[in-house]
Amino acid sequence: MVYRYKILKTKKLQRSGDYMCDTFVAVRSATHNGEVIFGKNSDRPYNEQQPIVYIPKQHHNPNSELKCTYISIPQVEETYSVLLSKPTWMWGAEMGVNECNVAIGNEAIFDTKEPMGKPALLGMDLLRLALERSSTAYKAIHIICELLEKYGQGGGCVENDPNFTYHNSFLIADPTEGWVLETAGKWWVAQRIEDGTRNISNGLSIRSGYDLAREGIVDHAVTQGYCEEVEFDFAKCFSSGIYQEPTRYTREGRGRYLLRTNYGEISPQIMMEILRDHSTGICMHGGFRTTASQVSHLSKETTSIHWFTGSPHPCISLFKPFIVPSHDTSKVIDIWKQREHFDPITREDVIKKLNSLEQELIQNIEWKRQKGDLFMKEITNLTQEALQRELTLISES
Ligand SMILES: [Zn+2]
Repeated sequence: MVYRYKILKTKKLQRSGDYMCDTFVAVRSATHNGEVIFGKNSDRPYNEQQPIVYIPKQHHNPNSELKCTYISIPQVEETYSVLLSKPTWMWGAEMGVNECNVAIGNEAIFDTKEPMGKPALLGMDLLRLALERSSTAYKAIHIICELLEKYGQGGGCVENDPNFTYHNSFLIADPTEGWVLETAGKWWVAQRIEDGTRNISNGLSIRSGYDLAREGIVDHAVTQGYCEEVEFDFAKCFSSGIYQEPTRYTREGRGRYLLRTNYGEISPQIMMEILRDHSTGICMHGGFRTTASQVSHLSKETTSIHWFTGSPHPCISLFKPFIVPSHDTSKVIDIWKQREHFDPITREDVIKKLNSLEQELIQNIEWKRQKGDLFMKEITNLTQEALQRELTLISES
């Protein structure tokens, strides 16, 4: 089979990318209740499966090795419980959350001046490693950057295609704040979002207003001829081609616009609607398509709820609720195959029913959250019931 992404790959990429993934965060005054809301669409090859995977807290023997997608690195003695949206063929994950309510999504960055190294850690490996090892978003930045500087990033990012490689950016959130981390090879800068909104797509976006950076980055950029020290601007210096601000007609610009127009009212439901936007392809259909989505409502005061689709296209999927840790042991929720060929054109009635089921779930959970009486077991039951109802609706259509 010839994958359509190979055709797409020959197109010249625009700065904000013709494809893959959009990640969003709304912090404090941007949200309806002053908390933090994270969202991501994972855009991947049409037929790549991406189930929801739960891995409980684990203890590891001292000096043990961890086999990631392409290389092995030393394991730590304890890893946090994680809920991942994970392509089946790789060790890493496209997005996820851990028991400390740290949520991370990554983005492919194609156009940097730094060369791509040999197979090393994938951006998706770095994402999972940070979730397994970090209790806050700030610590996740340090975990990713230490591993990046030590091992580098590289290797095929699509199954059986060693030439399909990219650098990575990350949007990391916890119940207190958000961070954007952007990389080019082993170089990186990070920007904190204490309040407000931020989104990333497939281009470098941090200019001169970064909060953290790899030591020596300005000297490196000057030595390589990327820029002069007086005008150090990460996105401008490290992007290949001419850096341009995204317009509303790109996915990145449209995402920024949607976050701004909903400022102060962003709820999990509004974040789900942003992920369902079609005007510039945030909900992507085609050879590369949105294969799974996540919305996390991160709270310091009460239970954090994580909504995952585990199926292609949020516009025709049900977001199902989870909390981490779960009382379940290791588990894979794989409804991807049952949903793979669901046709949105001929199933309008089913989509309406799925939407009303989702409304019902959100209202039920929000009401219980506010009362503070939401328990782990109850969420698990609600998730199981929602899954069954979703599958019944699909099979009856
Ligand atoms: Zn769609």
